[in-house]
Parts: sequence; structure tokens; C-alpha cells
Amino acid sequence: MRRSSPSSSTVAQPAPEQLARVHHLLLEWYAREQRPLPWRATSDPYAILVSEIMLQQTQVERVIPKYHEFLSRFPTVADLAAAPTAAVISTWVPLGYNQRAVRLQAIARQVVSDYQGRIPDSLEELLKLKGIGRYTAGAIACFAYRRQVATVDTNIRRVLHRLFIGLEHPEPRLSDAETLALAEQVLPPGRAYEWNQALMDLGAMICTSASPQCERCPVCESCAAYRELSAQSLFPSGTVLRTLRKVAEKKSGYQTQPFTQSDRYFRGRIVALLRTLPPEQRLSLAELGPRIKPSYTEADLPWLQRLVSRLARDGLVDYQEEEGVRLP
Ligand code: SF4
Repeated sequence: MRRSSPSSSTVAQPAPEQLARVHHLLLEWYAREQRPLPWRATSDPYAILVSEIMLQQTQVERVIPKYHEFLSRFPTVADLAAAPTAAVISTWVPLGYNQRAVRLQAIARQVVSDYQGRIPDSLEELLKLKGIGRYTAGAIACFAYRRQVATVDTNIRRVLHRLFIGLEHPEPRLSDAETLALAEQVLPPGRAYEWNQALMDLGAMICTSASPQCERCPVCESCAAYRELSAQSLFPSGTVLRTLRKVAEKKSGYQTQPFTQSDRYFRGRIVALLRTLPPEQRLSLAELGPRIKPSYTEADLPWLQRLVSRLARDGLVDYQEEEGVRLP
């Protein structure tokens, strides 16, 4: 249960002077401290689309080399659309969550078929691309086309909540729609690009999920969460930080199951193995099982069938019950 549930139209507007001060402090900090990320050196909407899809579930450090490799292999949206899906998946591995590669190629194919190969520049048209949600649409419109639009990812959500609303535990006090409304309300005129990037950097570098470093934060003098922490004298005991850490661990599923026993791990193993086979070669499930799981027995067959069927549904493998499995 949220502690309060204002509608999007009733999210409190920060006082103009407070907002101006936050804009000034955060944009000044961003100009000084911003991370030199390769997708910030381009306004190519295709490159920005690739980076955004990669960043959805993978850390920046792992994305950077793969971003360069992917763009050198598929330099344009047309190249990606025309490529064999197996080659796209193969290039994507070992980034993980490989269905993103299939989704990215489907977006490229729709751009080629419906938009003559030009990624659209408005939120409305971007949202017509299957597989693009409000965050990615906002990121492309803002970062590639410099549209003055708000966009909300995990980092921006957390920072806005703490900055303007207060601590987000035990439950966030804003819904998705309310958070987006707040993000739109606090957008500095003409500075959407820097502002959105600055919020993301602050969330990644200082206002992290489990360990916000308020003492290093450029906007701590205006932060609602910081005021709550100070008023409750919770810093010395570390109570809040411990709570934040627990919330973060719970959300990430940390400690629930070793990664090497998870379905995600075995999905990755299957795709990695199939990409080593000659094109068109298939493996039966009886051949596949022991090669991805040393302790595989016949009792694991229903599990493997479910796993492979889900990979096929996500477009990552071609699975024929009689003939076996291969990359599409
Ligand atoms: S003061 Fe602390 S909680 Fe507030 S935005 Fe900065 S790091 Fe986050």
C-alpha cells in the first residue's frame, strides 16, 4: 500500500525557487562529473536505440564493448533488419537476456517496412514500434532528436522520488503515471537532454538504490529524502540504509537461487552452444541436455522442453519436436 496516492494531476509541484536551485545544482554537477559514455557522443537514433535496449538489463561496463561490436557488425537500421536472426543473436551473446536481440531486430524491421528506414522522432510514432515502451521512446526522442520530453527509468524514478517526495521505502508513494507526471513537471525548459542524463548519472553514481552517498550529493540541500533522514536522525544508526539494502536485495531476487541453477543461466547456455554449431545443424533434446547441464538425466526432459519452448516463443531458437533445436 502506498502511503498516499495522489492522481497525476495532484502531484505536488515543487516551489519555483527550490526547483530553479535544483536545476542549477544538478546541471552544474553534470557538466563537471558526467560519465563519458559512447552513446552520448552521437545523435544517431539507431545507435541510441541499440544502447537503450542493451542497457535495459545490463550494466554500463558490460554494454560498452558490445555496443561498439554490434554497431560495427550492423552499422545501420537497414543492416540489422536484413541480417539473419541467428547472426544477430550470435553477436549479442554473451550480453544475456538474448530475447532483446530478437526484439531489437523486430523494431529495425518495422522501421524499414513502416518508416522507410528512418526511426521516428515523436513519442507518438515511436510508441507505435512494437517492443518500444514509454521510457525508450522518451530516451530516443530526447537523446537523439533533442525533444523536450521527460523519460523515467529505474534511476530517474528513484532520484525524483527521493528528491521531491521523500524516501521510497517501505513502498514508493507514486504510481508510474504519477512519477511520469512529476518528471514532466520538473523538466527544465530547453535542458531536457542534460537533465535526463544528469538524473541517470546521479542515480548510478551517488543516489544508488541501497547506498545513497548523500554527503557527496550536489542536491542534498534540496532533497526531501535527505530531510527525512536528518529529521529522524537515522544516519548514525544506519537503519535507513539497512532497510534500503534489504529492499534492493528483495527486488533483485538476491540470495534466492544461485545464478548457475537458474533458468536464465541455462537459456544462455543453450543459445551459446547452438551458436557454435554449423548453420542449419540441429540438436535433439537428448543431445542438448547433457551438453548444457552435466548432471542432466531423463527426468530433466520436461524442464528442458519447457525451456526450449520458451526460447522458441521468444524467437531465440527454432524448435521442431521431431527434428530438434537450432538458432533461427
Ligand atoms: S541527498 Fe541522498 S537521497 Fe537525496 S538525492 Fe542526494 S543521494 Fe539521493
